[in-house]
Amino acid sequence: MNLTGLHILLTYTCNYECDHCFVWGSPWQTGVFTMAQLKDVLYQAREVGTITEIYFEGGEAFLYYPLLLEGVRLASALGFSVGIVSNGYWATSEEDACQWLKPLAQAGLKSIDVSSDLFHGKALETPESQRVLAVAPMLGLATGTITVDAPAGARDPDEWEPGLPLSGGGVMYRGRAAVELVEGQPRQHWMSFPQCPYENLENPGRIHLDPFGNLHLCQGIVIGNMFNQPLKQILAHFEPHQHPIAGPLISSGPTGLAMRYLDQHEQEFVDACHLCYTARVHLRNRFPDLLAPDQMYGGGIQGR
Ligand code: SF4
Repeated sequence: MNLTGLHILLTYTCNYECDHCFVWGSPWQTGVFTMAQLKDVLYQAREVGTITEIYFEGGEAFLYYPLLLEGVRLASALGFSVGIVSNGYWATSEEDACQWLKPLAQAGLKSIDVSSDLFHGKALETPESQRVLAVAPMLGLATGTITVDAPAGARDPDEWEPGLPLSGGGVMYRGRAAVELVEGQPRQHWMSFPQCPYENLENPGRIHLDPFGNLHLCQGIVIGNMFNQPLKQILAHFEPHQHPIAGPLISSGPTGLAMRYLDQHEQEFVDACHLCYTARVHLRNRFPDLLAPDQMYGGGIQGR
């Protein structure tokens, strides 16, 4: 595996609860790294030798700012190029945005990507994202915007209500999107999805690590647990074609996954991820360690 990037889900908790979220982020969601765990995984990442880039994301990583700051500092000190993905909720003014970003820049942060679309606000470019994009370059940070496009020919932003279905525009129907956004969407026969369209499951360049130690090929497809086994060992022993979930997905996509394991299922799905995610939900009892954690499948919510 030629792994160059480790994307650390610092927490599953988020101040938003977007319908298109792959990881079921929510204010009521559980799961966050401890400082000791974070330090351990960063040292393990260095041991691998091929990883050059660490990204902190979530959930919303800025909700645990001291943890984020220390993570950025250590990752940078260990020689990684360090980035963050955030929804920018903290950028309440340019002055405030600077206060949040400056310590991170001084700790070695190289880039920040901000989510901005109609799921995160009432305009494609949210005021918070505009402030981040204005301030970050002054601190020497590279910037990017992560946008799920507005539906073509669709509603005025003022008419937008969370929960209304979207079509087209790059929504991928996995995680919460596979539950909240599929109603009323055009569907195709389940045999129409013979390959995974988005992830290189055989030789991923980057992989996600969650606060429970799970390493995800794609959100909810686990190849090992870093709290139980060293990262270097997990990667060395990973045989993609032998993995009970990745194997069928690599050889024949979500169609192959359903064909391999499911006797009964719906006939039509919105996209490949919708079939993949739905099949995996049915398979969780059979492969509890590989299709985990509950947070990736709509569980883990507490105290709502
Ligand atoms: S088809 Fe499955 S493995 Fe591929 S990107 Fe979609 S959800 Fe992930």
